[in-house]
Amino acid sequence: MDRLKQAIQERGLVLSSGVLKVDQFLNHQIDTALMSAVGEEFAHLFEESGVTKVLTIESSGIAPSFMCAHALGTPLIFARKKKSVTMNETTAYASRVYSFTKQETLEVTVSKDFISEGDRVLIIDDFLANGRAALGLCDIASKAGATVAGIGIVIEKSFQEGRQILEEKGYHIESLARIASLENGTVRFVDEPVHSN
Ligand code: 5GP
Repeated sequence: MDRLKQAIQERGLVLSSGVLKVDQFLNHQIDTALMSAVGEEFAHLFEESGVTKVLTIESSGIAPSFMCAHALGTPLIFARKKKSVTMNETTAYASRVYSFTKQETLEVTVSKDFISEGDRVLIIDDFLANGRAALGLCDIASKAGATVAGIGIVIEKSFQEGRQILEEKGYHIESLARIASLENGTVRFVDEPVHSN
């Protein structure tokens, strides 16, 4: 998605060879026009997948998935990262997820009221690195007896192992921007030539 790639190039910040900061349009300040376009693109890519629910993880997954769910005409559910007194193991599905950015394991939860057997769940997240967040959401869908209809990722870091792990498990993944490398402070997308000086 060219518009997204342009935003990454012009407004993203390479923090290290493994981490990209996109607070300018996705992770802190939200470019609502861009996120609407991202959501519509996901809706288009998964329109034949029979999606009944869109599932993401708070908080950065919510903006890109909102318009997708709206366009598909489905509810949007976000998994919670913080424990709530209103949810426990009898009322919620839970999965333990190692957070790439926080470098700690979190328990993510979704109320049993909102996903059930027969649902076809589209999982959306802002980044794909090693696949832990997406796998946690797949685990929650499976605990609910639902099917994963697909996985939509805004920014995939293709040099990390997430895509391979998810593909080996047979999931249909669509990423709107695929980054081949963040070396030397530069974003290089998959299928772009490497320039030598
Ligand atoms: P994974 O679970 O695939 O290892 O990592 C994905 C999650 O970690 C995403 O939900 C995202 O919040 C965060 N993440 C991973 N890599 C990056 C990155 O380079 N930049 C930012 N801002 N978040 C990232």
